[in-house]
Amino acid sequence: METKTAKLLDGKAYSLKIYEQLTIAIAVLQSIVGRPPGLAVLMVGDNPASAAYVRNKERACKSVGIASFNRHFPAETSFTELEEVIHSLNSDERVDGILVQLPLPAHLDSVALLHLIAPDKDVDGLHPLNLGRLMRGEPGLRSCTPAGVMRLLQEYSIPLEGKQAVVLGRSILVGKPMSMMLLEANATVTMAHSRTQNLPDITRNADILIAAVGIPELITAEMVKKGAVVVDVGINRINSENGKSRLIGDVNFDQVATVADFLTPVPGGIGPMTVAMLLENTVNSYQSTVNSEQ
Ligand code: NAD
Repeated sequence: METKTAKLLDGKAYSLKIYEQLTIAIAVLQSIVGRPPGLAVLMVGDNPASAAYVRNKERACKSVGIASFNRHFPAETSFTELEEVIHSLNSDERVDGILVQLPLPAHLDSVALLHLIAPDKDVDGLHPLNLGRLMRGEPGLRSCTPAGVMRLLQEYSIPLEGKQAVVLGRSILVGKPMSMMLLEANATVTMAHSRTQNLPDITRNADILIAAVGIPELITAEMVKKGAVVVDVGINRINSENGKSRLIGDVNFDQVATVADFLTPVPGGIGPMTVAMLLENTVNSYQSTVNSEQ
C-alpha cells in the first residue's frame, strides 16, 4: 500500500513568520519616516477571483501596518483614465508600491499599462527594467510568485546548486522569472511548456520540479523522481461532488506525496508566499526611499 512520505513545504506558516518580521521592521522605519509604507492595488472590472485576491492583499497589508491605497474601476474604464491614475500614484509620496491586478478586461493593453509604473514602485516585478535586472543578476524588485518559491526553498534549506531543476510553464508572470532565479542559484534549469514533447521523461530527471501550468493534477506520481522536491504553483478552481468549488494545484498531491521528499500544498503553499513577497517588496521600496533621503 502507498504511504505518504513527503514533508510539507508550509508556505502559510512561513508567510506568517515573514509578516511578524515585516511588522517589526515597519514599526522601526515608521518612527524615522513619519508615515507607514503604502501599497496601491488597481483593479478593473468585477472578476470574482481577482476581487478575492485584492481583499486578501488588503487584509495582509493591514496586519503588518502597510497603508492601502486601492482603487476599483468599472470594467469599461479607458486606458487613458488608468494612465492618469498610474502617473499620479507614481508621484504620490505616500505610495511605495503599485500593482495592477491581472487579468484586465480585453480592451486594455496590460503590458503597456505595466510599462507606465515607476520601476522603483513596481512591486510585482513585471516592469521590463526589473525583469532586465533579474536577467542580469542585479538587485531589483523581483516577481512575487517565483520569489516566494525561492524563499520557501531557502527556508527549508533545500540545496539548489548543481541540481536539476525543471520548470513547467514559461509565462512572464511565473515560469520565465522562476527559471532565471533558479539559474541565479546555480541550478541546472530546464524549461518545459505546452509544446514540450515527452514531458514525463523530462520531469523524471528533476531534483526540483516546479509546476506553473494551470492544468489540474497534471503531475502524477510516475512523472516524479523519487526524493524530488515538488513545488505546485498552480491554482485551479474545480467543482466538487457536493456542488461547492475548491482549489487544487497542478500536482496530484496524494500520488506525488508518495514519491517526493518535499511538496507544497494547494492551498497553503505558494499562494501565501506570493502575498508575503508583495508586502516585502513594498517594504523594501519604502526602505529605499528612506535610504535615498538620508
Ligand atoms: P499562463 O497560462 O500564463 O501560462 C501557463 C504555462 O503553462 C504556459 O507557459 C504554457 O506553455 C504552459 N503549459 C500549458 N500546457 C502545458 C503542458 N501540458 N505541459 C507543460 N506546460 C504547459 O499561466 P501563469 O500565469 O504562468 O500561471 C500558471 C498557474 O499558476 C495557474 O494555475 C495560475 O493560477 C497559477 N498562479 C499561481 C500563483 C500563486 O500565487 N500561487 C500566482 C500566479 C499564477
